[in-house]
Amino acid sequence: MTSDVLSSKELTKMDPVFGQLSFDNHEQIVFCNDKDTGLKAIIGIHNTVLGPALGGTRMWQYNNEWEALNDVLRLSRGMTFKSAITGLNLGGGKAVIIGDAKTQKTPELMRKFGEFVHSLSGRYITAEDVGMTTADMDTVREVTPYVTGISESKGGAGNPSPITAYGVFMGMKAAAKFKYGSDVLEDKSVFVQGIGHVGESLVEHLLNEGAKVTIADINEARLEEVASKHDVQIYRGSDLYSEPMDIYAPCALGATINDDTLNKLQCDVIAGAANNQLADEVKHGRLLQERRIVYAPDFLINAGGIINVYAELENYDKQEIMRKTENIYNTTLEIFNRAEQNEVTTNVAALAIANERIERRKQEQS
Ligand code: NAD
Repeated sequence: MTSDVLSSKELTKMDPVFGQLSFDNHEQIVFCNDKDTGLKAIIGIHNTVLGPALGGTRMWQYNNEWEALNDVLRLSRGMTFKSAITGLNLGGGKAVIIGDAKTQKTPELMRKFGEFVHSLSGRYITAEDVGMTTADMDTVREVTPYVTGISESKGGAGNPSPITAYGVFMGMKAAAKFKYGSDVLEDKSVFVQGIGHVGESLVEHLLNEGAKVTIADINEARLEEVASKHDVQIYRGSDLYSEPMDIYAPCALGATINDDTLNKLQCDVIAGAANNQLADEVKHGRLLQERRIVYAPDFLINAGGIINVYAELENYDKQEIMRKTENIYNTTLEIFNRAEQNEVTTNVAALAIANERIERRKQEQS
């Protein structure tokens, strides 16, 4: 036996997919590789009971393939619950492309990725996520119809980020109503972490309402750009989590609420756009509840984007998109009340409602 052949025992120890902590009975995981374009992607299809698995494609320079696999498993699962709780007839899926979106993304790579999406015959429908633009989705559209989030000029609903931001704003107002008895955000100090497509749009809603906004980002140029346009403070400290604030809005990447940060947090409310904010849903959800920090589940309040792309499939107009997104306020309050009555975390209450819908549909189908 050569040294690069792993023994059965070593392979067992690795448990590459089904043994992953983030594996949650996903239906299908597709590894996509193309030598010519350098494409290395993973498509995760978590659940298709309610409909085809729809979810964006993220391009990110992961440290290794395990990290990419873990991300796609977590993100695709989140999409199942996001669509279920929002009342959409969609399942949960997501894709990740391993690489630097600034230097490694080419039209050829995007088209090749589109061909892999096409090979799934509509079981997975893609859209944009971090590292992707509407123009990239237009490129994917050249080779497959199973893509949403394309330009308005090409018949799509356009950039979903402003709608996502509006939904997050609605969820944040509902959280404020629950915590403070009023949903008015005037004079509330809000830290927006990640000032990208969604973050900036959220800042605009917050400023219109008179909130005191502080922004944080790893991209200095972006901070300067946003601060030159809006009346915001830039956070220049080294530990945002220890800062006193009313509302923390994570709008960068996931898992910022974890063992390291949780005890430092000095906020009343957490409401942001980032997917999978709790590193460990059960443990960190419970600790937030114990600390009386009101947590608006991410998959519930960041559903504006999926509502926007769903409109492309169902031919909704803008008014209907806004109505459905505004309704995030009501659903969020309902979940907070249910969580309080049942003495469970807000995350558990939201997952229970989503799961009930999936189970009902399963029974109808059987
Ligand atoms: P984006 O790529 O436009 O912006 C992300 C921003 O976060 C960038 O400015 C980046 O520099 C910054 N960032 C990255 N790591 C950071 C860190 N450690 N600290 C501070 N800033 C950091 O992405 P986006 O479209 O605005 O999405 C933001 C989040 O919302 C993502 O988690 C995404 O999955 C989620 N989300 C987006 C949509 C949408 O419609 N765009 C929908 C649902 C969920």
